[in-house]
Amino acid sequence: MHCYCVNEHHQPLEKVESAQPQPQGEEYLIQVKAAGLCHTDIHLWEGYYNLGGGKRLNLADRGVKPPLVLSHEVTGKVIAAGPDADSSLIGQQVLVHPWIGCGECQYCVHGEENLCIKPNQIGIHRAGGFAESIIVPKAKYLVNIEGLNPSEAAPLACAGVTTYSALKKFGNKIEHYPVVIIGAGGLGFMALKLLNAMNAKGTIMLDIDDNKLAEAKKAGAIATLNSKDENVISQLQQMTQGGPRLILDLVGNADSLSLAISSAGRGGHIVVCGLIGGELNLSIPLIPMRPLTIQGSYVGTVEELRELVELVKSKNVEAIPVTEYPIDQVNQAMQKLINGQVLGRLVLKHAV
Ligand SMILES: [Zn+2]
Ligand SMILES: [Zn+2]
Repeated sequence: MHCYCVNEHHQPLEKVESAQPQPQGEEYLIQVKAAGLCHTDIHLWEGYYNLGGGKRLNLADRGVKPPLVLSHEVTGKVIAAGPDADSSLIGQQVLVHPWIGCGECQYCVHGEENLCIKPNQIGIHRAGGFAESIIVPKAKYLVNIEGLNPSEAAPLACAGVTTYSALKKFGNKIEHYPVVIIGAGGLGFMALKLLNAMNAKGTIMLDIDDNKLAEAKKAGAIATLNSKDENVISQLQQMTQGGPRLILDLVGNADSLSLAISSAGRGGHIVVCGLIGGELNLSIPLIPMRPLTIQGSYVGTVEELRELVELVKSKNVEAIPVTEYPIDQVNQAMQKLINGQVLGRLVLKHAV
């Protein structure tokens, strides 16, 4: 089999031939059909996150270094099972839950494997979907997607569960207050469609790109605003009778978070998912006096991924727009994402 591998940061992915892995114990072998490309893949390819103020979080310090097989948004078919695994799953079309932990730390034991201190995540710490076939350690990480399009389902593993888990943090307030979404990229459109399916009050979409805002309007946003507008804060406060109560920041830089904090109304709840990077000066009295909740959200749990797949199936949630590339064009696809020329999600297709 072959994979497309990061052998060196900032260098094109290289095609590498290797022996097909054999599932051991409770493991499964998945023949990859579709593998989504996420901004995290770009950070992994670059080798660091920008923390702002010239500081970097180097991935090598966390044990993540080349060679890397990227893509944590993987769908495919179960083609083999280890001797202690359930062989009746062979042939099933699955989405792989990539946010795998050690299984032993306090987070893993209490069902928050996505927060594990010794993670073993697919496409990050272990081989991901830019390979013809991959090993998944246990049946609980396989989600049946029979009836869904494999390319459209792949992004549910990251873009999907990240937005779903973030939106769940707002609780039932989504039924009473519109959610302001900052960033009309892949995650923004996913959030918009999920809110429609979750009987939410509505979505106000913000972005710096008017074309993306026009698409958001078509997809059901009740209002859109260009966050470069001079009076964006006052417009937002007018639309929401004093300031938004629920804000999802999918950009995660100084501009987006300061916009969220400056515009939030009383009792404002800001959930930050974006990882573009930067730092902020924060006026502390605003937090208790308004009072504000600023919360981070990082991917999601396997239970949340199962709930999400159920929601998508039962409410027929329309997938985010997906552009397919053959896997041998993975370097061109990455360049497109780096250049910001992507509406929705890029998915790499394997020839199977
Ligand atoms: Zn991702
Ligand atoms: Zn753990």
